[in-house]
Amino acid sequence: MTEPLDEAEVERPRLGRLGPVRVRVPAKINLHLRVGDLRADGYHELNTVYHAVSLYDELTARPGDTLALTMEGEGAGHLPLDESNLVVRAARLLAEHTGRPPHARLHLRKNIPIAGGLAGGSADAAAALVACDALWNTGLSRDRLADLAADIGSDVPFLVLGGTALGTGRGERVSPVLAPHHTWHWVLAFAEEGLSTPAVYAELDHRRANGIADTVAGEPDTLLAALRQRDPEILAATLVNDLQGPAIALRPELMRTLMAPDEVEALGGIVSGSGPTCVFLAADARHAAEIVAVLERSGLCRTACAVTGPVPGARVV
Ligand code: ATP
Repeated sequence: MTEPLDEAEVERPRLGRLGPVRVRVPAKINLHLRVGDLRADGYHELNTVYHAVSLYDELTARPGDTLALTMEGEGAGHLPLDESNLVVRAARLLAEHTGRPPHARLHLRKNIPIAGGLAGGSADAAAALVACDALWNTGLSRDRLADLAADIGSDVPFLVLGGTALGTGRGERVSPVLAPHHTWHWVLAFAEEGLSTPAVYAELDHRRANGIADTVAGEPDTLLAALRQRDPEILAATLVNDLQGPAIALRPELMRTLMAPDEVEALGGIVSGSGPTCVFLAADARHAAEIVAVLERSGLCRTACAVTGPVPGARVV
């Protein structure tokens, strides 16, 4: 009789050496983002609720004699494919950690816009950890991968985990939010041009130093209660992002984008993370399609798309 496979094995098939390994990784939005004090290490103390949505990058890993990265899609031709790419950094880190040569041929298909406030680069790093772990048969636990992920970037551990999770510290300490299963419908509006995350944080520091009052997010308790109630109108009223004011200060036209779907009564509009992507909550899939249509007609964004959440983090498919 065949022994039943345990969940970890089902999730991460041991394809090692045979390859290719294909990993899908989602984008994230922040339903609640409180930015606290600037720490001595240069990071801000964060208190956030991460939510993974169904906009995916895909990373394929094949055996190779060196470490090589190619890509297509968003940012192709602009994003460096050298040591500065987070995919390469993640693959090297895993190889160093497990004492093996970092040999793999990696191909990235990118749908998550670059510098969009959706943590696309962090998502790709999470995908690289999961893909190389499977390709090289290193068999690290998800917790160990999450520890390595934190060394690459604050959002990377969440993108290994996925779902909806609380993030504390600089965002790297994540714990899943326990809420009854529910699919939320969102619309993402992509801007023509990205925004630099450090520039948005610098603007926040400048505004605070000069007493400019923006929203200040409190504890996420009301938002967590709203997630449990599974009522989009209640959830919409609790969405908050301390980086929204600074992002709008740097990109004033975002205000118009946020207001564009008023005619179809989007339930809540918010800047995603450090922006400039705007996120709208919809009542259901049909409502989401209406919001997409209004945004696309408005000419205020490059494109808009409907997504759902929560979805799992980086996974072999
Ligand atoms: P965050 O919300 O985590 O600050 P973001 O979504 O605003 O991030 P990313 O797309 O993650 O922005 O990219 C941030 C920077 O990281 C980019 O300016 C880019 O030069 C660099 N980078 C390195 N590797 C990647 C990658 N694989 N994909 C995207 N950006 C990358």
